[in-house]
Amino acid sequence: MEKSNISYIRPKKHHNYVAFFLTLACDLRCSYCINLHGTGSRYIGAKNSHMTVKKWVESANRLNLRDDLPLTLQGGEPTLYKGFYEIVNEVKEEVKMDLLTNMFFDVDIFIKNTPVWRFTRDAPYAAIRASYHPGQNDINVLIGKSLKMQEAGFRVGLYGILVPDEEIKNHILEVQEMCLKMGIDFRTKEFLGVYNGKLYGTFKYENSVCGNQMGACECKPTELIVDPGGYVYGCHADLYNGRNPIAHILDENFNEKEIDKFRDCYFYGDCNPCDVKVKTNRFQIFGHTSVEIRNILELK
Ligand code: SF4
Ligand code: SF4
Repeated sequence: MEKSNISYIRPKKHHNYVAFFLTLACDLRCSYCINLHGTGSRYIGAKNSHMTVKKWVESANRLNLRDDLPLTLQGGEPTLYKGFYEIVNEVKEEVKMDLLTNMFFDVDIFIKNTPVWRFTRDAPYAAIRASYHPGQNDINVLIGKSLKMQEAGFRVGLYGILVPDEEIKNHILEVQEMCLKMGIDFRTKEFLGVYNGKLYGTFKYENSVCGNQMGACECKPTELIVDPGGYVYGCHADLYNGRNPIAHILDENFNEKEIDKFRDCYFYGDCNPCDVKVKTNRFQIFGHTSVEIRNILELK
């Protein structure tokens, strides 16, 4: 029986992703980073500081998630959030988590303080997904840490971005081959965004990314994404810019119905590639986009 004093958030079948961005801080400095480490030109409007552990736990405990939908902890580097281990231990057991990380953390501390069951569920990909960023984190260190985590019972996957540079791309593919031989799940990700003045990615809506002109439109999300201050946004571009939060995760009246609304947006053209890219959903089915956009008007 549910306790009557908690108002639950129950993501529907078509809600594909639930993520808490615990912090946008990161200990790496990748040139292509989409959040610019929380100190750059983006996230300017984010007047909100980090939520307390107690509030994050309270927020996660509001979630009533399907078996196939975890709560993803991400950032920045989510393990830099000072209450990270309290969150993974104190949230109610029904909430399974995924982690997006650069694995710069101390694996011994992680293994000692993290229950394996929290990151264990049936899925076509690893719950703990670490990115390899050439020049930023060392692949041999990542391999050593991955093997140690695997021995401790965690399912870990490494990911390399196919940056449009032949040398880097070939390096990633070599590393992938080496990891697979060692029994480490290594997958590649398409590069999204601008590289040497050229835009990469397949986007559903024309001129939505790096458009020459801003437009007005109506936009509806399929994801529940929450910034370090606990604010809920309709898209990644809004979250990273700290603009137009649609609610706070602890607003009593906020629930899954609020996600399913078209809202006016005047930033069409400044969309984040993540939101408008034609991609694979959590069932590994291709063709999904994170947002649905309609009634696009160019602003003169
Ligand atoms: S590891 Fe991720 S969050 Fe950190 S700088 Fe690189 S891309 Fe950005
Ligand atoms: S139109 Fe683009 S910027 Fe506006 S809410 Fe949708 S995804 Fe975000």
